[in-house]
Amino acid sequence: MINVEGLHKNFGDLHVLKGLDVEVQTGEVVVVIGPSGSGKSTFLRCLNLLEMPTQGRILFEGVDITSGTNDINQQRQKMGMVFQNFNLFPHLDVMGNITLAPIRLKGLSKESAEEKGMELLKRVGLEDKAHEYPSRLSGGQKQRIAIVRALAMNPDVMLFDEPTSALDPEMVGEVLDVMRLLASEGMTMVVVSHEMGFAREVGNRILFMDEGEILEENPPAQLFAQPEHPRLKDFLSKVL
Ligand code: ADP
Ligand code: MG
Repeated sequence: MINVEGLHKNFGDLHVLKGLDVEVQTGEVVVVIGPSGSGKSTFLRCLNLLEMPTQGRILFEGVDITSGTNDINQQRQKMGMVFQNFNLFPHLDVMGNITLAPIRLKGLSKESAEEKGMELLKRVGLEDKAHEYPSRLSGGQKQRIAIVRALAMNPDVMLFDEPTSALDPEMVGEVLDVMRLLASEGMTMVVVSHEMGFAREVGNRILFMDEGEILEENPPAQLFAQPEHPRLKDFLSKVL
């Protein structure tokens, strides 16, 4: 589904991504781990062109989205993104948040967007919050709404950037449960996370990034049991 070839990203003199080659298959859950500042968010943001790669190609469903010749907004609609800090629209209630993009970008009627929105809210156990404003929700609820908002566009892939890092510990589980559910339904997912339990249990493949490079890439059983690169060993000794 996604093919990244020789991806480089510079911010001025700062060389943040140093030639990444990554493949993501349909239905796969790829978890990206690594120290802070290693380029994980930049990598994820390049996948949907929130950041423009300095060099390299990204093929999404066979289309080179970095070529500049296709409609990036159209491509981006197929990639749902969930951020650490939820980024809900504060002036809209939950249903307004969920239906905005389907109505504006996909031309859905308000009724059908809300019907679909309600269906998704039920799946994450938040149908009673449809007319609540974000400021009145807990962090865990906000993040589940952010996931629903992304799902409302029927994306082919979901990108998660540390979706539980801003949550109080007791709310992490409810968000991971929703992600587990998506994975079990076959959603293709790329997840940046420090939740090693989740990575081990749900990830099909783990990428270890450090200083803008992927230093190791393996199924979780192998990566956690037999880390090879010294920097991965060092990282795991700090987070496990
Ligand atoms: P991670 O998500 O692994 O913590 P990031 O991708 O956020 O790492 O950042 C990698 C490096 O790129 C850091 O040194 C960060 O300061 C830098 N960086 C990220 N975004 C920008 C930006 N928009 N402008 C300049 N530097 C940036
Ligand atoms: Mg980050």
